[in-house]
Amino acid sequence: MNTKFIFITGGVLSSLGKGLAAAAIGALLEARGLKVTFQKLDPYINVDPGTMNPFQHGEVYVTDDGAETDLDLGHYERYTRAKLGQRHNFTSGRIYHSVISKERKGQYLGGTVQVIPHITDEIKSSILQLAGEADIAIVEIGGTVGDIEGLPFLEAIRQLRGNLGKENTLYVHVTYVPYIQTAGELKTKPTQHSVKELRAIGIHPDILLCRTPIDLSPNIKSKIALFCDVKEDRVITARDVKCIYEVPLRFHNEGLDERVVETLNMWTRAPVLTRWEDLIAKIREPQHTVQIAMVGKYVNLTESYKSLNEALSHGGVANHSAVEIDFINSEKLRGEELEARLAENDGILVPGGFGSRGIPGKLEAIAYARRNKVPFFGICLGMQLAVVEFARSAVGLPLADSTEFAPTTPDPVIYLMKEWHDYRTGNVQVRDETTDLGGTMRLGAYPCRLAAGSKSFAAYRTEEIFERHRHRYEFNLAYRDRLEGAGLMFTGLSPDGQLVEIVEISEHPWFVACQFHPEFKSRPLDPHPLFVAFVQAALALKLGR
Ligand code: GLN
Repeated sequence: MNTKFIFITGGVLSSLGKGLAAAAIGALLEARGLKVTFQKLDPYINVDPGTMNPFQHGEVYVTDDGAETDLDLGHYERYTRAKLGQRHNFTSGRIYHSVISKERKGQYLGGTVQVIPHITDEIKSSILQLAGEADIAIVEIGGTVGDIEGLPFLEAIRQLRGNLGKENTLYVHVTYVPYIQTAGELKTKPTQHSVKELRAIGIHPDILLCRTPIDLSPNIKSKIALFCDVKEDRVITARDVKCIYEVPLRFHNEGLDERVVETLNMWTRAPVLTRWEDLIAKIREPQHTVQIAMVGKYVNLTESYKSLNEALSHGGVANHSAVEIDFINSEKLRGEELEARLAENDGILVPGGFGSRGIPGKLEAIAYARRNKVPFFGICLGMQLAVVEFARSAVGLPLADSTEFAPTTPDPVIYLMKEWHDYRTGNVQVRDETTDLGGTMRLGAYPCRLAAGSKSFAAYRTEEIFERHRHRYEFNLAYRDRLEGAGLMFTGLSPDGQLVEIVEISEHPWFVACQFHPEFKSRPLDPHPLFVAFVQAALALKLGR
């Protein structure tokens, strides 16, 4: 397959939605019958985003192969059928790491190792790995043009046009056209400067995606075209939208996909966009609204739970329902205040997390959901805490805990397996509290068998599922019988029965908690069964009230 490359850069300022733009372009090309893949190149020095604070960087997105990646890979996977992994996300840190290891091994034969050509060659070979994988590879460069650390990446993609040819490369620049209230008009200067900067590096953009609060008039478009030396029909309005899933259709209406295939000299069918149109129609006119309490730590930033928020909305769409999320900070709200707030919601979700902050409040929220028969969904840490709460209140082990928070608890219902035979990778992992933070997690997709008659089985309608993981601690099987005796059901297990993946409470309308992160596999056009079932249960509670 002769893979063609689309390079996406950003200008003027960050947060312009480059990742979404890349994903939407992918969706349109896929709708034209092309196979697409993606790559995100992040200029920061961290080797992977795994240990980065979600406050600063947003969610860590996990792929099937266990890569801990930038959240933009989540957008790419949600908008398309692309299967992404380790080779679809590189950081400067990873590139330098690899060059320095080669240097240490003497692979450069004592030559002087430099940014150009060694770092740039390493970047190019990371990009060119994608050749043959799809018709089109969409490569997004993180950061903003003008950042010092982005330069080697821009130089690498500049060289690739020379290496691959004009018909095989396309440069899309995402820029900003602000509306200045006092002047009552759109301003093109920031865009002009940003393109100038890009051209100084030697990259001449083929298409400009202009983020703007109002439509660009033909006049403004021709002004931008003139000053930036881009054809007028390649200056695209990327107007702010209420719902992010409208972006592919908006881009299509602006002729973007047509311009892309034309510039790359490709012949395709017209795009089939009915599924996207149906989706938008459903999102615009929901029949119901449910409100879900999300009880967590990083609650003030929706970016930290990006995939989760999206998965909830997908679950809503499947139920013709809008989902409003009530973010509750479990460090701030406790006791009666917390219960009063929970009572305003139709379902309660405790998401994944690390560290001991906010744990007591999360346990209170779980107890509330269990006692008051409010639909409850626990994810990863949320599942571990559901087990702790059950062991304490229903089994009578008041000191039951996870060794993550209470290393000396007499009842470690959640613990660190000292030695773990990773049946997926074949490795034996030895873990204790002192092992390196980066390397000891169970990461990526693992199989799980579902028990017939369970709520999970009813949702998935299949016996074996594959779901993505990102955690260190596991359920301690020594407690299984006691918890089962008190009514906790172990409805999802690893094929060897050693790892607990899902627990449920049968005497409850919907109390399901899973060790994995189902949110990473939910898509707007293919909502995740557990989210569909959870929203359905919340809706049933609301309608029955
Ligand atoms: N902190 C828990 C663990 O490491 C849960 C992790 C998570 O929720 N992703 O096992």
